Amino acid sequence: MAELKRLSDSRDLTRIERIGAHSHIRGLGLDSSLEARDASEGMIGQQPARRAAGLILQLIRQGKIAGRAVLLAGQPGTGKTALAMGIAKSLGAETPFASVAASELFSLNLSKTEALTQAFRRAIGVRIKEEAEIIEGEVVEISIDRPVSAAAAGSFTPSGVAAAGKTGRLTLKTTDMETVYELGGKMIEALGKEKVQSGDVIALDKASGKVTKLGRSIGRSRDYDAVGPHTKFVKCPEGELQKRKEVVHCVTLHEIDVINSRTQGFLALFTGDTGEIRAEVRDQIDTKVAEWREEGKAEIVPGVLFIDEVHMLDIECFSFLNRALENDMAPILVIATNRGITSIRGTNYRSPHGIPPDFLDRLLIITTQPYTEDDIWKILDIRCDEEDVEMSADAKVLLTKIGVETSLRYAIHLITSAALACQKRKGKIVEMEDISRVYQLFLDVKRSTQYLMEYQSQYMF
Ligand code: ATP
Repeated sequence: MAELKRLSDSRDLTRIERIGAHSHIRGLGLDSSLEARDASEGMIGQQPARRAAGLILQLIRQGKIAGRAVLLAGQPGTGKTALAMGIAKSLGAETPFASVAASELFSLNLSKTEALTQAFRRAIGVRIKEEAEIIEGEVVEISIDRPVSAAAAGSFTPSGVAAAGKTGRLTLKTTDMETVYELGGKMIEALGKEKVQSGDVIALDKASGKVTKLGRSIGRSRDYDAVGPHTKFVKCPEGELQKRKEVVHCVTLHEIDVINSRTQGFLALFTGDTGEIRAEVRDQIDTKVAEWREEGKAEIVPGVLFIDEVHMLDIECFSFLNRALENDMAPILVIATNRGITSIRGTNYRSPHGIPPDFLDRLLIITTQPYTEDDIWKILDIRCDEEDVEMSADAKVLLTKIGVETSLRYAIHLITSAALACQKRKGKIVEMEDISRVYQLFLDVKRSTQYLMEYQSQYMF
């Protein structure tokens, strides 16, 4: 359990710090009647597809999606991954989102079914409720031994007072005197980071030392009991303040698998080098999670598994998916392709998107459309904000033109490199010259192909 907690904390941290290709997507940007707003939650344009995705959200929420999957079909860079991410985000912050490109499944040192199983289990969340020792208290008095400014008197942090060379006194009311004696120092130390006011009800998580403000209290107590020079704890009648005992961690089944797999340690989750996980380990975990669910200690949070380039899957992978979708813990499967009629890998047959007919039958199909110039401008504008890049209006217009001529993704990539070019000339705002510079340095697909054709004879065969 301690490892799960450490894991869920460190994941929160990485989630905050990473700016990914889709980090600006916070939902599908729909209004209450599931109409797509022009620009909302980081989503621009693509209205019909977003509306359809909204209906899928409803099916998911009503539990009617079981056994089915969603296919996003459209040209490269038309927002298929962004839409899948939007669905996951709309389902709640805790909803896991796992993304894999079908070709990756064949290039790892794992069998393709093991790689698919891991991908599925990365998209199944387990919300574990853990009994944790939390001390709850109320700040009943804050006093400082000399006059201080109005601002300082309004809120109080012991470390702030110490830094100003003054002494402070903090009085806490709690139901649990013994633990408080034991943890008095820790509590004060933790409180140093939180601004508290008289009347705030606070909780201290004994394991992490984290202090949370729970709200304001109404009652007061006079039964003082001193602890240390700057602290007082007040014993209050049992039951007046309740001890909160439940902490919730959210982890994925795959993370539990890796932690419990004897060959792999907890760090394998970050390197991605998890190796094959034995079937017995997974069986034991499934049994344990089923027990926790029965005892009310855990809930399953089905996430979203996104498989891109789905035409690269072979017939065996599709059989695996057919079976996996019937499992009651199955995540929402969203697959994507930019291919039309093509052969089904591992067979001599051709079919729409290279998907076997029995699997096609399970699919709700959404198509995405190419973006207009205006949409591209807006998406680039959002990406500049996301990457903290200030860009002049002219430069944005030029970048939009490049996006229309080449691809949206190429234009998005130029934002970061243009910002570096700007930094190099000690500029603050990215200008047209920075865009032109990186446009010349990095070729887009069209120019790169042209170059290859011109200089073909100089390359090795
Ligand atoms: P491919 O077929 O090559 O996998 P794709 O259709 O999955 O491409 P994305 O990767 O989703 O395309 O889109 C390219 C970039 O544009 C991403 O950074 C994505 O977040 C952004 N993007 C695409 N569509 C939208 C949109 N409607 N609103 C905001 N951002 C978008």
